[in-house]
Amino acid sequence: MNQPIDSRPELTTAVAHAQRWLDSLAERRVPASVGVAALASRLPDAFPQRGRTALEVTEDLIEHVEPGLMAVPSGRFFGWVMGGTLPAALAADWLVSAWDQNAGMRDATPGVVTIEDAAARWLLDALDLPRGAAVGFVTGATMANFTGLAAGRDAVLDDRGWDVARDGLTGAPRIRVLAGAERHSSVDMALRYLGLGEPEIVASDEQGRLDAAALRDALAGRDGGTIVCLQAGNVHSGAFDPFREAIDAAHETGAWVHVDGAFGLWAAATPALASLVDGIAGADSWATDAHKTLNTPYDCGVAIVADPSAMARSFGHHAAYLIDAAVPDPHEHVPELSRRARGVPVWAALASLGREGVTDLVDGLVESAQAIATGIGALPGASIVNDVVYTQVCVAFEDDETTNAVYAAILADGEILPSPSRWRDRAVIRISVSNWQTHEKEVAITVAAFEKARSAVR
Ligand SMILES: *Cc1c(COP(=O)(O)O)cnc(C)c1O
Repeated sequence: MNQPIDSRPELTTAVAHAQRWLDSLAERRVPASVGVAALASRLPDAFPQRGRTALEVTEDLIEHVEPGLMAVPSGRFFGWVMGGTLPAALAADWLVSAWDQNAGMRDATPGVVTIEDAAARWLLDALDLPRGAAVGFVTGATMANFTGLAAGRDAVLDDRGWDVARDGLTGAPRIRVLAGAERHSSVDMALRYLGLGEPEIVASDEQGRLDAAALRDALAGRDGGTIVCLQAGNVHSGAFDPFREAIDAAHETGAWVHVDGAFGLWAAATPALASLVDGIAGADSWATDAHKTLNTPYDCGVAIVADPSAMARSFGHHAAYLIDAAVPDPHEHVPELSRRARGVPVWAALASLGREGVTDLVDGLVESAQAIATGIGALPGASIVNDVVYTQVCVAFEDDETTNAVYAAILADGEILPSPSRWRDRAVIRISVSNWQTHEKEVAITVAAFEKARSAVR
């Protein structure tokens, strides 16, 4: 017999904890207070013979995990490029788990599928990409890169008369893949999964932007059989490749152009940044994340392919037991068959923001990044290593030793959390502004945290 709803104490416990956690973010230190080794040693090793109640399990889980939580959704978190969670997106994500719909088949789960369809339309609108493009909801930009590049690989081989779905890659015409020197490592992973090996590297400039003239040279005299990978948003500088020139050069030779826009594709959502993404809509495929700039919970990436028939060539899937819909099923736009309805929180995020809210969100992140750069740049010994055109700020002090010591002091203090990195041959402290809750107060706290840390290491 089903238990009545009001006797599900594990859910009320989970909600109460979630509320405490979210309320704690305003004041809480950002790094986890206990590390992996200590936490692991507190967990019982042996798989228990007998199970426990859902309430007991939930309480144990909360008690164990809480000290090991990093305050990723805090407005003072600037590590890697992560982002927080908008309230409407979180509520939607809880419902997605409770509903437990398999979002792969259109006619089987029409409630969530129609919401995901709407989210896809809104995304193309917000990002100003071709409205007829095929959209797939994947786990992140790594898989979105994989999906776009798979469609590109198969299209490029199809142009040369090779059906990779039937004949595989063995004996296929060789595909050249060109990518900028500062592409994200997930592009290399995607190429590896696709059997395409390492890309040929095209030079990039001091901000990490691909050099369009170098691309033109690399493409010269060859036609077809080529994929060009461009980037919107370099993780260190936030810089954008010169899309119009690069896409023109690539398309003149018949190459497929894929754009990794994990967080940078969102520049297209604001008129203030339109020049950074000029021409980007002319590419053939794009990857982005919703779990970064759009602030949906993990995990959610978006794969977009301009030509739906190219998406269908690579991911179309027909098995007798699957419902055969006239329009492609959602699973025909992604590598997975069964999956959670991760596009539903995307819809909720977009519905709660509206077009103006999306523009304000992106503009706000950039304004905060620029204010942080101005504040830190004025501190003695600090320099801002990149041109702050988007959400990323790289800070260096007099030498690597000082930079690393400042980072260690910031981490020990715990008020904010940037990430340590190396860029252009020097140690940097990288600040990625990706959270909807980062505003003036958080900017001031961040500058003060750098100032305090710098004086502590003097
Ligand atoms: C984060 C990121 C990725 C990978 O995205 P995941 O969501 O972690 O899979 C790819 N490219 C860029 C530029 C990124 O910032």
